Amino acid sequence: MTGGFLRVGIGFDAHAFEDGRPLVIGGVTLPGTRGLAGHSDADVLVHALMDAIVGALREGDIGRLFPDDDPAYAGASSIGLLSRVGDLMRARGFELIDADCVLALEAPKIAPYRDQMRERIAGALGVAVERIGVKATTTEGLGFVGRGEGAAAYAVVLLEGSSR
Ligand code: MG
Repeated sequence: MTGGFLRVGIGFDAHAFEDGRPLVIGGVTLPGTRGLAGHSDADVLVHALMDAIVGALREGDIGRLFPDDDPAYAGASSIGLLSRVGDLMRARGFELIDADCVLALEAPKIAPYRDQMRERIAGALGVAVERIGVKATTTEGLGFVGRGEGAAAYAVVLLEGSSR
């Protein structure tokens, strides 16, 4: 610590599965014939993480920064938007100390792609991969996740701000 102050942020997101779309999670395109529905690439994990960072910055939410009725964000790469959130974070005088994310979905299995997701996210934010945690769980058949209708993600972040 360098005499800065700490902020925490939490983010949540959920998207429905849709046939014929690529499945992009954590900036990685996974094999399969069903993706997540949304205005952008619907990267549920990156959306939750962006909301956590934006929350810690007290800047509202990503819907305010990147409105989903703005054609500029149609089909947008969420990992590219994450990089812009990282720029905003640094512009506000904050550094990402740590982040952890949980993905809730029935399939596919995330473990083989987890480190690749961590690297993509860390790369977009310009931080060491050790600072980014990603894990996944099923919901044992319960709810919309359990029925395979969609995926959800949660993220928490710890930011350090430089003292003014
Ligand atoms: Mg979203």
